[in-house]
Amino acid sequence: MTIKKSTIYISICACMLCLTGCEKDEVPSNYLDYQTIAELELPFNDAWFVVWGGDNLNDNHHASLVDQRFAIDVVQIENGSTFMGNGTQNEDYFCYGDPLYAPESGQIVEMENSVSENVPGETNTNQLFGNYVIIDHGNEEYSVLAHFMKNSINFNTGDFVTKGQLIGLTGNSGNSTEPHLHYHLQNKPSIGDGEGLPAQFRNYYANDTFISIGEPLKNQTIRTN
Ligand SMILES: [Zn+2]
Repeated sequence: MTIKKSTIYISICACMLCLTGCEKDEVPSNYLDYQTIAELELPFNDAWFVVWGGDNLNDNHHASLVDQRFAIDVVQIENGSTFMGNGTQNEDYFCYGDPLYAPESGQIVEMENSVSENVPGETNTNQLFGNYVIIDHGNEEYSVLAHFMKNSINFNTGDFVTKGQLIGLTGNSGNSTEPHLHYHLQNKPSIGDGEGLPAQFRNYYANDTFISIGEPLKNQTIRTN
């Protein structure tokens, strides 16, 4: 697949919660060899492209941030672009409005649902994660899914969700230049707190190769089936 570099580069440096810039250093982690306890599955259907993913700063600019140390950012791409038309509206983007599901069962311990979405190319640096949920899976593992469409999350704090249950819709809220999903696993129940953990997912395909357990990496196309 040929990737239109300009499109992806926009995603890279302006969104992805890389607020403090892409020049930051990689932060050390005691969790590089961590094995995820929760039996995570990808939180979406369809094929998604990994813009950022991996355990080092070259592959993943989140690696400069303690809580998002192993985060992934994913978009949908067709014919080398993340959008059709001129890309000036969120609706132009292939992933916009795509359903997002619970990667594993748990309790929603924190969330935001009322942040207005951005015009593509602009960001909201006051509410970095935009609309998001944090799901407590037990064992000090918390999934963070961010940038949902405004008012698309069908739950409240304290609700329990089961693996595969619809959580909300992909949007463009927070520090995000275009619709995408940000996902990471962390060891604390509050946004911006704690340390990031490697998130191994089960039973998915990466570039059409079946992965029984693994971490999505930069430039892979990943899908559940
Ligand atoms: Zn991100």
